[in-house]
Amino acid sequence: MKILLIGPQGSGKSTQGRLLEQNLQIPYISTGDIFRQIAQQNSEEGKKIKQILESGQLVDDQTTARLLEERVKKPDCQNGFILDGYPRNLEQVKLINLNFDKVFFLNTPKEVALDRLLKRGRSDDTEESITKRLTLYYQQTEALLDYYKNQGILAGIDGRGEIQSIQDEIKKSL
Ligand code: AMP
Repeated sequence: MKILLIGPQGSGKSTQGRLLEQNLQIPYISTGDIFRQIAQQNSEEGKKIKQILESGQLVDDQTTARLLEERVKKPDCQNGFILDGYPRNLEQVKLINLNFDKVFFLNTPKEVALDRLLKRGRSDDTEESITKRLTLYYQQTEALLDYYKNQGILAGIDGRGEIQSIQDEIKKSL
């Protein structure tokens, strides 16, 4: 089972993705986590990625696709995975054929997402980078909803409720 989680930053994708990982016994993969790990390395690549993360900009599509492709080839992805953070735009859709079985859209109003992000206090969560990331999300990532809707695999989930009730709704829809 290959599952994609889409939603603005702060919609609960990682929380729900990690719960699903336990429930379904397939790995939760976040491209943001992959980049945050690389950003800690004291290499040229690490420094470059760190700068991009702090600015809230996106890493280039080719690099992102290459890293994700390496990750989903690993044996633990044999029975599928839960993906958070890729694709971010239609260009990325074309770069890897991921063949999702189901796409969940965690529908969360901008104010709620922003409020959660400011509370979580991750190191790349400055007000400026959050605003930039949310803007990019609405400009580029929301366009993917129509794409997956046309494929008949999109399920909209209300992202505002309790963690467990959202998880139950996702499981019901699987
Ligand atoms: P996230 O944790 O999904 O909000 O991602 C954190 C940061 O990682 C983003 O602001 C981007 O800089 C980078 N990133 C994650 N996924 C992608 C992607 N699919 N394409 C480009 N950059 C990405």
